[in-house]
Amino acid sequence: MAFEGLAQRLQGTLQKIKGKGKISEADVKEMMREVRFALIEADVNLKVVKEFVKTVSERAVGQDVMKSLTPGQQVVKIVKDELTNLMGGEQNPIQFARKSPTVIMMVGLQGAGKTTTTGKLATVLRKRHNKKPLLVAADIYRPAAIQQLETIGKQLTLPVFSLGTDVSPVEIVRQALEEAGKEHHDVVIIDTAGRLHVDEKLMQELKDIQTLSKPDEVFLVVDAMTGQDAVNVAKSFDELLGITGVVLTKLDGDTRGGAALSIRSVTQKPIKFVGMGEKMDALEPFHPERMASRILG
Ligand code: GDP
Repeated sequence: MAFEGLAQRLQGTLQKIKGKGKISEADVKEMMREVRFALIEADVNLKVVKEFVKTVSERAVGQDVMKSLTPGQQVVKIVKDELTNLMGGEQNPIQFARKSPTVIMMVGLQGAGKTTTTGKLATVLRKRHNKKPLLVAADIYRPAAIQQLETIGKQLTLPVFSLGTDVSPVEIVRQALEEAGKEHHDVVIIDTAGRLHVDEKLMQELKDIQTLSKPDEVFLVVDAMTGQDAVNVAKSFDELLGITGVVLTKLDGDTRGGAALSIRSVTQKPIKFVGMGEKMDALEPFHPERMASRILG
């Protein structure tokens, strides 16, 4: 399960001082060294680690902690607070358009889980928000991407708008928006093409789709298993496109979880959802505080 490694490291470290009646600055220093190791081991971005440790240290050597009857627990609380802050503090809900339809553009590299997440997100929107989504197959390059989305649509009994692979993605999106108007869909989710790497042609196409559809949300789908790469991908997409949120997939896998901790502070964009499996109901809203609790055990 994700985060187990990091959780164990941090727990071991924090357990040691939890029961201590008194702690010194040296104790805090030693503990912070361990926290730093634990975060680096979890593949958290180095700059993020440094800032995190600095903030926690500053708060931990503060008077209140030293004077407290349970200084260890105080430090644990500070670490938890700061982990929560690092991941954005509050849960970040979907931004709906004032005037329907809400347009959500899904972007990301190939294999990140974009098409799967499109289906999962539609499930969330229908179930929890009472929406009537239209899924748009705008990935005309990856063999079988359209078919994959159509299969998902059938499975969920949700309509999929597709014009095959011979029409340009921008034109597909244009017609899909028309269709959404006619059929009274209040959410349109566009499954765009991915590539193996960020490249200019892909970005231009995404920009064209963005200009035409004026999305309320641009969700970058990234694979948590790719660690620091996920953070770099998020940075590139954000710089070139201006994403509004991140969906971190495959958090059910054997990831060390560093991406969850770094993405927010590197991009300033919130993680909105996490993918916890391949099934259509395996998408959860991302709650920074809950995640921090999970990391600390
Ligand atoms: P795309 O190329 O970005 O559209 O990626 P796909 O949606 O085709 O997903 C690639 C693979 O990742 C598929 O086998 C999915 O089932 C799998 N996948 C997507 N999200 C998750 C997740 O949250 N957990 C796990 N375990 N697998 C996922």
